[in-house]
Amino acid sequence: MKAPDFAYVKPASLEEALEVLSSSAGSAVPLAGGQSLVATLNLRLSTPDLLVDLGAIDELRGIAESDDMVRIGALTTHQELANSPIVRRHLPLVAKAIRHVGHVAIRNRGTLGGSLAYADPAAEMPACCVALDASIVIAGRSGRRTVPAVQFYRGLFDTDLRAGELIVEVCLPKQKPHRLWGFGELSRRHGDFALAGLAAVAEIDGGRIGMARLVYFGCTDCAKPAQGVAQKLRGQPLPIGRLEWLPQAIASDLNPTDTPGLKAHTKVQLATALTVRILNDLQPGPTGSRDPAIS
Ligand SMILES: Cc1cc2nc3c(=O)[nH]c(=O)nc-3n(C[C@H](O)[C@H](O)[C@H](O)COP(=O)(O)OP(=O)(O)OC[C@H]3O[C@@H](n4cnc5c(N)ncnc54)[C@H](O)[C@@H]3O)c2cc1C
Repeated sequence: MKAPDFAYVKPASLEEALEVLSSSAGSAVPLAGGQSLVATLNLRLSTPDLLVDLGAIDELRGIAESDDMVRIGALTTHQELANSPIVRRHLPLVAKAIRHVGHVAIRNRGTLGGSLAYADPAAEMPACCVALDASIVIAGRSGRRTVPAVQFYRGLFDTDLRAGELIVEVCLPKQKPHRLWGFGELSRRHGDFALAGLAAVAEIDGGRIGMARLVYFGCTDCAKPAQGVAQKLRGQPLPIGRLEWLPQAIASDLNPTDTPGLKAHTKVQLATALTVRILNDLQPGPTGSRDPAIS
Protein backbone atom coordinates (compact mmCIF):
# COMPACT_ATOMS: atom_id res chain seq x y z
CA MET A 1 0.00 0.00 0.00
CA LYS A 2 1.16 3.56 -0.69
CA ALA A 3 0.70 6.66 1.42
CA PRO A 4 -2.02 9.10 0.32
CA ASP A 5 -0.84 12.44 -1.16
CA PHE A 6 0.49 14.96 1.32
CA ALA A 7 2.43 18.23 1.24
CA TYR A 8 5.84 18.49 2.91
CA VAL A 9 7.75 21.31 4.61
CA LYS A 10 11.07 21.35 6.45
CA PRO A 11 11.17 24.39 8.77
CA ALA A 12 14.57 25.75 9.79
CA SER A 13 13.56 26.71 13.34
CA LEU A 14 11.30 25.59 16.17
CA GLU A 15 9.34 28.84 15.93
CA GLU A 16 8.65 28.25 12.25
CA ALA A 17 7.59 24.63 12.88
CA LEU A 18 5.17 25.68 15.62
CA GLU A 19 3.76 28.40 13.36
CA VAL A 20 3.08 25.92 10.55
CA LEU A 21 1.61 23.30 12.89
CA SER A 22 -0.69 25.70 14.69
CA SER A 23 -1.95 27.40 11.53
CA SER A 24 -2.91 24.15 9.82
CA ALA A 25 -5.83 23.38 12.15
CA GLY A 26 -4.83 19.82 12.97
CA SER A 27 -4.25 18.71 9.37
CA ALA A 28 -0.43 18.79 9.75
CA VAL A 29 1.70 16.32 11.72
CA PRO A 30 5.34 16.50 12.78
CA LEU A 31 7.77 14.05 11.20
CA ALA A 32 10.81 13.02 13.24
CA GLY A 33 12.57 9.71 12.41
CA GLY A 34 9.55 8.46 10.45
CA GLN A 35 9.94 4.93 11.87
CA SER A 36 6.35 4.82 13.10
CA LEU A 37 4.69 7.62 11.15
CA VAL A 38 5.69 6.42 7.67
CA ALA A 39 4.29 2.96 8.39
CA THR A 40 0.97 4.48 9.51
CA LEU A 41 0.90 6.63 6.34
CA ASN A 42 1.54 3.63 4.10
CA LEU A 43 -1.17 1.66 5.90
CA ARG A 44 -3.45 4.71 5.61
CA LEU A 45 -4.04 4.71 9.34
CA SER A 46 -2.95 8.34 9.24
CA THR A 47 -3.92 10.76 6.44
CA PRO A 48 -2.45 14.20 7.19
CA ASP A 49 -2.46 16.96 4.56
CA LEU A 50 1.00 18.19 5.54
CA LEU A 51 4.15 16.63 7.03
CA VAL A 52 6.30 19.04 9.03
CA ASP A 53 9.81 17.57 9.00
CA LEU A 54 11.64 18.48 12.22
CA GLY A 55 15.00 17.26 10.89
CA ALA A 56 16.60 20.70 10.40
CA ILE A 57 15.82 22.03 13.90
CA ASP A 58 19.15 21.71 15.66
CA GLU A 59 17.81 23.07 18.97
CA LEU A 60 15.85 19.82 19.34
CA ARG A 61 19.07 17.77 19.40
CA GLY A 62 21.61 16.96 22.06
CA ILE A 63 22.20 15.37 25.45
CA ALA A 64 23.38 17.62 28.32
CA GLU A 65 23.82 17.16 32.07
CA SER A 66 23.45 19.54 34.98
CA ASP A 67 23.95 18.80 38.70
CA ASP A 68 21.10 16.35 39.12
CA MET A 69 19.46 16.16 35.71
CA VAL A 70 20.06 14.91 32.18
CA ARG A 71 18.28 16.85 29.42
CA ILE A 72 17.71 15.06 26.13
CA GLY A 73 16.49 16.85 23.01
CA ALA A 74 13.44 15.35 21.31
CA LEU A 75 15.29 14.69 18.04
CA THR A 76 18.00 12.63 19.74
CA THR A 77 18.05 9.25 18.04
CA HIS A 78 17.87 5.95 19.89
CA GLN A 79 21.40 5.23 18.68
CA GLU A 80 22.72 8.52 20.07
CA LEU A 81 21.17 7.57 23.41
CA ALA A 82 22.81 4.16 23.24
CA ASN A 83 26.21 5.66 22.48
CA SER A 84 26.10 8.49 25.03
CA PRO A 85 28.54 8.25 27.96
CA ILE A 86 26.24 10.63 29.91
CA VAL A 87 23.33 8.22 29.50
CA ARG A 88 25.43 5.18 30.40
CA ARG A 89 26.79 6.88 33.51
CA HIS A 90 23.69 8.63 34.84
CA LEU A 91 20.72 6.79 33.30
CA PRO A 92 21.68 3.12 33.40
CA LEU A 93 18.05 2.04 33.08
CA VAL A 94 17.75 3.90 29.76
CA ALA A 95 21.13 2.58 28.62
CA LYS A 96 19.96 -0.98 29.15
CA ALA A 97 16.47 -0.47 27.70
CA ILE A 98 17.56 1.27 24.52
CA ARG A 99 19.31 -1.90 23.36
CA HIS A 100 15.85 -3.48 23.05
CA VAL A 101 14.35 -0.79 20.79
CA GLY A 102 13.94 -2.40 17.37
CA HIS A 103 17.05 -3.03 15.32
CA VAL A 104 20.00 -0.87 14.41
CA ALA A 105 18.36 0.61 11.29
CA ILE A 106 15.39 1.73 13.41
CA ARG A 107 17.58 3.05 16.22
CA ASN A 108 19.60 5.08 13.70
CA ARG A 109 16.51 7.04 12.57
CA GLY A 110 13.96 6.77 15.40
CA THR A 111 13.98 9.53 18.01
CA LEU A 112 13.19 9.83 21.70
CA GLY A 113 10.56 12.53 21.06
CA GLY A 114 8.89 10.43 18.37
CA SER A 115 8.77 7.39 20.61
CA LEU A 116 7.29 9.33 23.54
CA ALA A 117 4.72 11.12 21.34
CA TYR A 118 3.65 7.97 19.50
CA ALA A 119 2.94 6.25 22.85
CA ASP A 120 3.05 2.69 21.61
CA PRO A 121 2.01 0.55 24.61
CA ALA A 122 4.91 -1.84 23.87
CA ALA A 123 7.60 0.86 23.61
CA GLU A 124 10.50 0.91 26.07
CA MET A 125 11.19 4.65 26.38
CA PRO A 126 7.78 5.77 27.72
CA ALA A 127 8.04 3.15 30.48
CA CYS A 128 11.59 4.24 31.37
CA CYS A 129 10.57 7.91 31.49
CA VAL A 130 7.65 7.15 33.82
CA ALA A 131 9.77 4.86 36.04
CA LEU A 132 12.47 7.54 36.33
CA ASP A 133 9.97 10.33 37.02
CA ALA A 134 11.03 12.28 33.93
CA SER A 135 9.47 15.55 32.84
CA ILE A 136 8.47 16.20 29.26
CA VAL A 137 8.92 19.73 27.95
CA ILE A 138 6.29 20.67 25.38
CA ALA A 139 6.20 23.79 23.21
CA GLY A 140 3.25 25.41 21.47
CA ARG A 141 2.56 28.81 19.92
CA SER A 142 1.59 30.18 23.35
CA GLY A 143 4.77 29.04 25.13
CA ARG A 144 6.21 26.05 26.93
CA ARG A 145 4.83 23.73 29.57
CA THR A 146 6.39 20.84 31.48
CA VAL A 147 4.40 17.67 32.12
CA PRO A 148 5.51 14.84 34.42
CA ALA A 149 5.81 11.69 32.28
CA VAL A 150 3.41 9.91 34.64
CA GLN A 151 0.69 12.42 33.67
CA PHE A 152 1.63 12.52 29.99
CA TYR A 153 0.25 9.03 29.19
CA ARG A 154 -3.52 8.79 29.28
CA GLY A 155 -4.34 5.54 27.49
CA LEU A 156 -3.71 3.51 24.37
CA PHE A 157 -1.72 5.75 21.95
CA ASP A 158 -3.14 8.69 23.90
CA THR A 159 -1.08 11.47 25.45
CA ASP A 160 -1.42 14.96 26.86
CA LEU A 161 -0.06 16.51 23.61
CA ARG A 162 -2.43 19.03 22.04
CA ALA A 163 -2.77 19.80 18.34
CA GLY A 164 0.04 22.09 17.19
CA GLU A 165 2.36 21.19 20.10
CA LEU A 166 5.78 19.56 19.97
CA ILE A 167 7.87 17.70 22.51
CA VAL A 168 11.11 19.69 22.67
CA GLU A 169 13.08 17.86 25.35
CA VAL A 170 12.92 15.39 28.20
CA CYS A 171 14.46 16.00 31.64
CA LEU A 172 15.47 12.89 33.57
CA PRO A 173 16.78 12.89 37.15
CA LYS A 174 20.21 11.26 37.39
CA GLN A 175 20.43 7.81 38.99
CA LYS A 176 20.63 8.32 42.75
CA PRO A 177 23.31 6.31 44.59
CA HIS A 178 20.83 4.62 46.95
CA ARG A 179 18.38 3.64 44.18
CA LEU A 180 18.46 0.31 42.38
CA TRP A 181 17.11 -0.28 38.91
CA GLY A 182 16.04 -3.20 36.77
CA PHE A 183 14.84 -3.71 33.22
CA GLY A 184 13.72 -6.69 31.19
CA GLU A 185 11.33 -7.70 28.48
CA LEU A 186 10.00 -10.81 26.82
CA SER A 187 9.57 -10.76 23.06
CA ARG A 188 9.38 -13.39 20.38
CA ARG A 189 12.78 -12.31 18.94
CA HIS A 190 15.29 -9.74 20.11
CA GLY A 191 14.30 -6.38 18.59
CA ASP A 192 10.61 -7.23 18.30
CA PHE A 193 8.14 -5.18 20.29
CA ALA A 194 7.78 -6.59 23.82
CA LEU A 195 4.96 -8.97 24.72
CA ALA A 196 5.63 -7.93 28.31
CA GLY A 197 8.30 -5.66 29.76
CA LEU A 198 9.17 -3.95 33.01
CA ALA A 199 11.20 -0.86 33.87
CA ALA A 200 11.76 -0.69 37.64
CA VAL A 201 13.44 1.49 40.24
CA ALA A 202 13.45 0.54 43.91
CA GLU A 203 15.05 1.18 47.27
CA ILE A 204 16.12 -1.69 49.51
CA ASP A 205 16.26 -1.27 53.28
CA GLY A 206 17.74 -4.04 55.41
CA GLY A 207 17.28 -6.58 52.64
CA ARG A 208 13.62 -5.66 52.19
CA ILE A 209 11.90 -3.81 49.36
CA GLY A 210 11.00 -0.24 50.24
CA MET A 211 9.78 2.26 47.68
CA ALA A 212 9.30 0.63 44.26
CA ARG A 213 8.20 2.11 40.98
CA LEU A 214 7.26 -0.62 38.53
CA VAL A 215 6.21 0.39 35.03
CA TYR A 216 5.09 -2.39 32.72
CA PHE A 217 4.83 -2.18 28.95
CA GLY A 218 3.58 -4.47 26.20
CA CYS A 219 1.05 -6.03 28.56
CA THR A 220 -0.99 -2.92 29.37
CA ASP A 221 -2.47 0.05 27.50
CA CYS A 222 0.07 2.73 28.41
CA ALA A 223 3.06 3.48 30.63
CA LYS A 224 1.91 3.95 34.21
CA PRO A 225 3.22 2.77 37.60
CA ALA A 226 1.66 -0.40 39.04
CA GLN A 227 0.81 1.11 42.40
CA GLY A 228 -1.05 -1.81 43.93
CA VAL A 229 1.84 -4.17 43.21
CA ALA A 230 4.36 -1.69 44.65
CA GLN A 231 2.31 -1.33 47.82
CA LYS A 232 2.08 -5.06 48.37
CA LEU A 233 5.81 -5.52 47.73
CA ARG A 234 6.80 -2.99 50.41
CA GLY A 235 8.56 -4.84 53.23
CA GLN A 236 8.99 -8.01 51.20
CA PRO A 237 12.42 -9.63 51.83
CA LEU A 238 14.72 -10.26 48.86
CA PRO A 239 15.15 -12.56 47.07
CA ILE A 240 11.45 -13.02 46.52
CA GLY A 241 10.10 -16.48 45.76
CA ARG A 242 6.67 -17.50 44.58
CA LEU A 243 4.19 -14.84 45.73
CA GLU A 244 0.69 -16.26 45.49
CA TRP A 245 -0.89 -12.80 45.35
CA LEU A 246 1.36 -11.38 42.61
CA PRO A 247 -0.52 -12.41 39.41
CA GLN A 248 -3.81 -11.04 40.77
CA ALA A 249 -2.18 -7.77 41.89
CA ILE A 250 -0.58 -7.37 38.45
CA ALA A 251 -3.88 -8.11 36.71
CA SER A 252 -5.66 -5.49 38.85
CA ASP A 253 -3.08 -2.80 38.12
CA LEU A 254 -2.56 -3.49 34.42
CA ASN A 255 -6.03 -4.62 33.41
CA PRO A 256 -4.69 -6.36 30.29
CA THR A 257 -7.01 -7.38 27.44
CA ASP A 258 -6.80 -10.19 24.91
CA THR A 259 -4.98 -9.13 21.73
CA PRO A 260 -4.44 -11.16 18.54
CA GLY A 261 -2.05 -13.97 19.42
CA LEU A 262 -1.85 -13.20 23.13
CA LYS A 263 -4.44 -13.75 25.85
CA ALA A 264 -4.68 -11.38 28.81
CA HIS A 265 -3.99 -14.31 31.13
CA THR A 266 -0.70 -15.02 29.33
CA LYS A 267 0.32 -11.36 29.61
CA VAL A 268 -0.19 -11.57 33.38
CA GLN A 269 1.90 -14.74 33.57
CA LEU A 270 4.70 -13.13 31.57
CA ALA A 271 4.59 -9.96 33.70
CA THR A 272 4.66 -12.05 36.89
CA ALA A 273 7.73 -13.99 35.77
CA LEU A 274 9.48 -10.76 34.76
CA THR A 275 8.67 -9.08 38.07
CA VAL A 276 10.28 -11.85 40.12
CA ARG A 277 13.26 -12.06 37.78
CA ILE A 278 13.92 -8.31 37.77
CA LEU A 279 13.36 -7.68 41.48
CA ASN A 280 15.80 -10.49 42.30
CA ASP A 281 18.41 -8.94 40.02
CA LEU A 282 18.20 -5.21 40.78
CA GLN A 283 21.31 -3.30 39.74
CA PRO A 284 23.07 -0.76 41.94
CA GLY A 285 24.52 1.74 39.50
CA PRO A 286 25.64 2.64 36.01
CA THR A 287 25.98 -0.08 33.41
CA GLY A 288 29.52 1.27 32.79
CA SER A 289 31.95 -0.99 31.02
CA ARG A 290 29.71 -4.06 31.28
CA ASP A 291 27.46 -2.62 28.57
CA PRO A 292 29.64 -0.99 25.92
CA ALA A 293 28.19 1.22 23.20
CA ILE A 294 26.30 -0.78 20.61
CA SER A 295 26.17 -0.40 16.86
C1 LIG B 1 10.26 -2.73 12.49
C2 LIG B 1 10.14 -1.76 13.66
C3 LIG B 1 10.40 -2.22 14.92
C4 LIG B 1 10.31 -1.33 16.01
N1 LIG B 1 10.56 -1.82 17.26
C5 LIG B 1 10.45 -0.99 18.31
C6 LIG B 1 10.68 -1.46 19.63
O1 LIG B 1 11.01 -2.61 19.86
N2 LIG B 1 10.53 -0.57 20.64
C7 LIG B 1 10.16 0.74 20.41
O2 LIG B 1 10.03 1.49 21.38
N3 LIG B 1 9.95 1.20 19.20
C8 LIG B 1 10.08 0.39 18.13
N4 LIG B 1 9.86 0.87 16.87
C9 LIG B 1 9.44 2.29 16.72
C10 LIG B 1 10.62 3.22 16.78
O3 LIG B 1 11.14 3.27 18.09
C11 LIG B 1 10.25 4.66 16.39
O4 LIG B 1 11.46 5.30 16.27
C12 LIG B 1 9.42 5.46 17.34
O5 LIG B 1 8.25 4.85 17.73
C13 LIG B 1 8.98 6.78 16.69
O6 LIG B 1 10.03 7.63 16.58
P1 LIG B 1 10.29 8.42 15.25
O7 LIG B 1 11.32 9.43 15.57
O8 LIG B 1 10.57 7.50 14.15
O9 LIG B 1 8.89 9.20 15.07
P2 LIG B 1 7.95 9.38 13.79
O10 LIG B 1 7.64 8.06 13.20
O11 LIG B 1 8.51 10.41 12.90
O12 LIG B 1 6.67 9.98 14.52
C14 LIG B 1 5.88 9.17 15.37
C15 LIG B 1 4.72 10.02 15.91
O13 LIG B 1 5.20 10.99 16.82
C16 LIG B 1 4.91 12.33 16.38
N5 LIG B 1 6.12 13.10 16.73
C17 LIG B 1 7.39 12.84 16.35
N6 LIG B 1 8.23 13.70 16.96
C18 LIG B 1 7.46 14.51 17.72
C19 LIG B 1 7.75 15.59 18.61
N7 LIG B 1 9.00 16.02 18.84
N8 LIG B 1 6.72 16.20 19.24
C20 LIG B 1 5.44 15.77 19.04
N9 LIG B 1 5.11 14.76 18.22
C21 LIG B 1 6.11 14.14 17.58
C22 LIG B 1 4.65 12.19 14.87
O14 LIG B 1 3.80 13.20 14.40
C23 LIG B 1 4.00 10.82 14.83
O15 LIG B 1 2.64 10.91 15.19
C24 LIG B 1 9.96 0.04 15.79
C25 LIG B 1 9.72 0.49 14.48
C26 LIG B 1 9.81 -0.38 13.41
C27 LIG B 1 9.56 0.14 12.03
